[in-house]
Amino acid sequence: MRTIDKIYINGEFVTPKGKDRFDLISPTTNKKLGEVVLGNNEDTLAAIDAAKKAFKTFSKTNTAERITYLQNLQASIEKRKQEFIDITIEEYGGTFQFATVSYQYMLNSFASAIKLLNTYSFNKTMGESEVQMAPVGVVGIIIPWNSSNGFICGKLATAIAAGCTAVIKPSEMSAQQTQLILECFHEAGLPKGVFNIVNGLGEVVGAEISRNPDIAKISFTGSTVVGKLIAKESVNTMKRITLELGGKSPNIILDDADLSKAIPMAIAAAFMNNGQACIAGTRLLVPENKLEEVKKLVKAVVSKTIVGDPKNETTAVGPMVSKKQYERVQNYIQIGIDEGAEILIGGLGKPEGLESGNFVKPTVFIHVNNQMRIAREEIFGPVLSIITYKTEEEAIEIANDTTYGLQAYVSSENEDRAYSVASQINAGRVQVNILSHDPMAPFGGFKQSGIGREFGILGLEAYLEPKTLIRK
Ligand code: NAD
Repeated sequence: MRTIDKIYINGEFVTPKGKDRFDLISPTTNKKLGEVVLGNNEDTLAAIDAAKKAFKTFSKTNTAERITYLQNLQASIEKRKQEFIDITIEEYGGTFQFATVSYQYMLNSFASAIKLLNTYSFNKTMGESEVQMAPVGVVGIIIPWNSSNGFICGKLATAIAAGCTAVIKPSEMSAQQTQLILECFHEAGLPKGVFNIVNGLGEVVGAEISRNPDIAKISFTGSTVVGKLIAKESVNTMKRITLELGGKSPNIILDDADLSKAIPMAIAAAFMNNGQACIAGTRLLVPENKLEEVKKLVKAVVSKTIVGDPKNETTAVGPMVSKKQYERVQNYIQIGIDEGAEILIGGLGKPEGLESGNFVKPTVFIHVNNQMRIAREEIFGPVLSIITYKTEEEAIEIANDTTYGLQAYVSSENEDRAYSVASQINAGRVQVNILSHDPMAPFGGFKQSGIGREFGILGLEAYLEPKTLIRK
């Protein structure tokens, strides 16, 4: 049993003023792992104050200095790879494969920020004027539980590259993962107050960050519901906002796709991160005349998908993060049944022998139409809906018939055709015949999947304010 009873303010581990505690529960066994002491409003104000003071000098650092800080942060996490993998598995229930990819994502975040800084010019000429790209100020970083340290690294690396200071609010469910990254970052020796981390609840710590006038920008990853609350609050002080929100990503299998490649990829896209991924490909759009073939292949692939202990290197789907998330997914499976969709494989309840954890049977529905709730709402679990289409135009129409627009997938043996379809989908990123992430390219959502972009030059510029100097 472990108690996380420190937060990080002004370069020091301090005891929070808040006294409330939150239980950390293993998703695999439902046994208590420990507790986290939650920071309160006073703690948040102290963190904001430290970041504000640090901004005065950190905003004046040059590119070379920021690169050194980024290198130090990267080096600090390089030493503890195994611990990061172990804690992601234990606390979050991420599979060994996910935890390894997630660790690499953390390193890549720093590497790509350094790469950007090597070529980015903060001084530009536009028209007859000089334009200085100035750091926006203190950034509030609010993080969900589904890839906690990955998101911390992605957002903090960009903030540092831009010359901003930060107050970070991770999910209370990720306290042990946060503690590990804090220990690493502390060693990196950044100036005091450049980054501060307050464990706490969204409605306390997150809400203070959203309303505080000393926070110039919020970078948020989480649900669309909370993103809207943050956006509403932010407008009162005209904060800049980057919102990375939910998704209901379509995966179009074109009629010339090689199904032996496309279907395993579709299952991986749907069940990645135990289905708890904003970019999960949860709507599989298949040509009506290929349905029987698709059903056979999907059944074959899903029945071989190993569900179980996330420590096991061959496990593809681990438990849901919490009992609450397990129940949410069960509820959606019931909704699908009630709506008249048919279960091809999976269904309600826990897989045999896995009753002690929050395990869900990977579930695929057929006879789904795009108006059903299981096709419109983000479930955030390993549940896939198969929807049939007659023509390419209809497939594109169904793909775009969603309030979301984060990611999409297209499979075809004809690259030009796949590109043409991809270009007609309203999503921030489309993956053609591949599952991949490019940390130098912008990432973010159309429509209710968010506002703004992360990564690449656009991601960096979201932490900068252009200042035009007109001289005689
Ligand atoms: P969530 O929105 O419930 O919480 C996210 C964070 O916001 C947490 O730290 C939470 O404590 C905080 N929060 C809650 N209420 C708040 C408030 N009133 N003010 C300020 N902060 C508040 O999301 P979650 O359940 O932790 O994560 C799952 C969601 O995140 C899914 O909807 C998923 O799609 C989304 N997500 C999006 C991306 C992306 O890049 N687009 C990536 C991962 C997850």
